[in-house]
Amino acid sequence: MSNREVRVRFAPSPTGALHIGGVRTALYNYLFAKKMGGKMLLRIEDTDQTRFVSGAEDYIKDTLAWVGITLDEDPWQGGPNAPYRQSERKPMYMEYAKKLVNEGNAYYAFDTSEELEDMRKRLEAAKVASPAYNSITRNTMKNSLTLPEDEVNAKLAAGEPYVIRLKVPRKDEIRLNDMIRGWVMVHSSAIDDKVLMKSDGMPTYHLANVVDDYLMGISHVIRGEEWLPSAPLHVLLYKFLGWEEAMPQFAHLPLILKPDGNGKLSKRDADTHGFPVFPIKWIDDNGKQVLSFKEEGYLPDALVNFLAFLGWNPGTAQEIFSLQELIEAFSIERIGKSGTKFDIHKAKWFNQQYLRSKSDQELASYLIDSLRHKGIDCDQERAEKICALMKERVTFPKDFGEEALYFFQAPSSYDEQVVANKWNEESVEVVKSFAIELSKLSTVSAEEAKSTLHHLLEQKGIKIGKVMQALRVAITGHAAGPDLMHIIEIIGNVETTNRLNTAANTISIKSVNI
Ligand code: GLU
Repeated sequence: MSNREVRVRFAPSPTGALHIGGVRTALYNYLFAKKMGGKMLLRIEDTDQTRFVSGAEDYIKDTLAWVGITLDEDPWQGGPNAPYRQSERKPMYMEYAKKLVNEGNAYYAFDTSEELEDMRKRLEAAKVASPAYNSITRNTMKNSLTLPEDEVNAKLAAGEPYVIRLKVPRKDEIRLNDMIRGWVMVHSSAIDDKVLMKSDGMPTYHLANVVDDYLMGISHVIRGEEWLPSAPLHVLLYKFLGWEEAMPQFAHLPLILKPDGNGKLSKRDADTHGFPVFPIKWIDDNGKQVLSFKEEGYLPDALVNFLAFLGWNPGTAQEIFSLQELIEAFSIERIGKSGTKFDIHKAKWFNQQYLRSKSDQELASYLIDSLRHKGIDCDQERAEKICALMKERVTFPKDFGEEALYFFQAPSSYDEQVVANKWNEESVEVVKSFAIELSKLSTVSAEEAKSTLHHLLEQKGIKIGKVMQALRVAITGHAAGPDLMHIIEIIGNVETTNRLNTAANTISIKSVNI
């Protein structure tokens, strides 16, 4: 099997918005396929019609497009294994279920829901820990193993509702060699006789998943750890269907945990902690828009980089990886076994790094856009200058508009802490004199502003550290920000002078300590 063509699949069920864990599964499949020169396909697993959510399929498609995961075969562009929606493949599964029945590895079961409920109650009363339809209890139920053959045939001919169940052997050890976890061994007594075909003629997930992986030539199944308990059952199916040779290799990805490591990350965590767990915009059942990475201002390459590290590491100190670099560095061997904590601060850090690495020209468009929403016009050149100055300080594109407002509007309030601690006779004197000096100039560059200030302070014998914050608060209203001299250059000497004078005239001196 070693020189088998690599073919992986992402097989989401359209039961709601794709969670960030699903995006990671898709990404790891993609990275592996590309690394190995293989193919990746997408299959929609929609056999459970009761859980179908409209819009979920488009959501999957739009998300993958946004993060840059391209597919070789899928329901939208088609491919040699079409159709790629299990609901459209419905007629294909019965043949395999029947084969299993004919070879004694599955059976028809005619039990009504009341009869199943009675069995559960009986077993509970007998203190059976986990009541199940299995190698022992099947003998007391209404199925083709207990009923005479002619009665079974009569029921089938009469169109009585039935399901087809897998006949799990009573004593067998099922082994699989997971690429991440190593050997996994499960005794067959721990597996119940799972339904393979439902009474509506639809296969269940287990049968459809195995049949499709086989028919689609899947070589590696890379999926979340929550599917590990199903894997032994799938191994049994491969064996019974005579496909052991073609069985894919399994790799079950570690869980993504809550930030405190206490349990699996859930949709509810998004609300509790105020961070997104969904990739793009989605309106939930209550008509509420959920938090999403795209709408919060995360860049797709930053999100991809962050997700790549949620369970995998390159074994070096390098953290910033483009998609192409991830493909080159990726290997299943470097995926960890244990759950990995979801750390939104790390996601923000990646976003900062990616934002920072963009050109001032690109960043300027973020600023211009967000200012436009506030009714403020700004030309490209000025926007680029502002972005160059701000880019070390922003996490999201929208921050440019919010943090850069003082370049366009004089402060309407002043940082209280700075006023309380740094606004005094001495600093106000410098604020006033600096205004006078600046007003003498026709234009001002950052350099000129700096030398003017230094000259003034030298004359007065005052250290810059004592007055810097007062000057900043007078000009911007804030306690911190990028280099003040560059801010002055962008605002211009007339506006800076006005702001210094306004501050000197309106802020009263509260502090006496110099
Ligand atoms: N349809 C399953 C899901 O929703 C796929 C599991 C698998 O990859 O086998 O995640």
